[in-house]
Amino acid sequence: ISNLMSGKRGLIMGVANDHSIAWGIARTLAAHGAELAFTYQGEAFGRRVKPLADAVGAKLLLPCDVEDLASVDSVFAALEKEWGKIDFIVHAIGFSDKNELKGRYADTTRDNFVKTMVISCFSFTEIAKRAATLMKDGGSILTLTYGGSTRVMPNYNVMGVAKAALESSVRYLAMDFGGDNIRVNAISAGPVRTLAGSGVADARIMYNYQKKNSPLRRTVSLDEIGGSALYLLSELGAGVTGDVHFVDSGYNIVSMPRLEELKVHE
Ligand code: NAD
Repeated sequence: ISNLMSGKRGLIMGVANDHSIAWGIARTLAAHGAELAFTYQGEAFGRRVKPLADAVGAKLLLPCDVEDLASVDSVFAALEKEWGKIDFIVHAIGFSDKNELKGRYADTTRDNFVKTMVISCFSFTEIAKRAATLMKDGGSILTLTYGGSTRVMPNYNVMGVAKAALESSVRYLAMDFGGDNIRVNAISAGPVRTLAGSGVADARIMYNYQKKNSPLRRTVSLDEIGGSALYLLSELGAGVTGDVHFVDSGYNIVSMPRLEELKVHE
């Protein structure tokens, strides 16, 4: 245990269950002394998140559906009332209609495009803006993205477009808030077996492919993502903002399958 996060308070958004990336980050931050608040989307998730929040001693557990801006506002009103200020926030929220996370991107509907963008991209801007007003002594804001933003991944489709916009928002928000010593970054994680991850068609094939073909020859763990989040959210990352940091076993540098995988022999 270290005291990297001791005395720091922050909000974790996006825990659905103990496989969630947000949970991997939360338990790492808690182990390093952070005091946490959690949001949950609807009562069914609330029942799953409650024991996790209890396990890290979090007292604030608040409902929030980012499609409903009033519920976002009430989260920040509650934080202001209870804590007065915050030091960090983690946004690990994404959604798109499963029926469009397969087949062609070209077939994306207007309704799902808008819904995907609002939940997976614009919610980050709305949340960062509210968080920044509570970051009275500076702070650190983190979101989660995926390499399908800049490179074409099968079936990722409109989520890739939303992640590209999310990564761009990270850069603009970093400039907006930098003067107040508030940093804004994203972690671009390799594939993780989560509820959201399983919504993408053939997720298991992608997972195994990246496992075999990334430089580290494996996928990343929740603890590894948590460790990188700790760096970005603590003073260790004090000079870093506007960054999209890959935590993906190095997969992003690869241009083709490993020859061993292709079984090419001379
Ligand atoms: P997850 O299903 O555990 O978490 C997704 C969360 O988004 C859930 O907690 C869900 O409640 C929340 N959410 C969806 N719609 C919402 C709404 N309208 N209001 C409030 N919350 C809402 O899956 P995860 O994989 O941990 O996803 C977290 C983030 O990580 C997402 O942004 C995802 O795109 C990103 N990511 C995931 C992977 C992966 O392979 N799993 C890789 C890179 C990035």
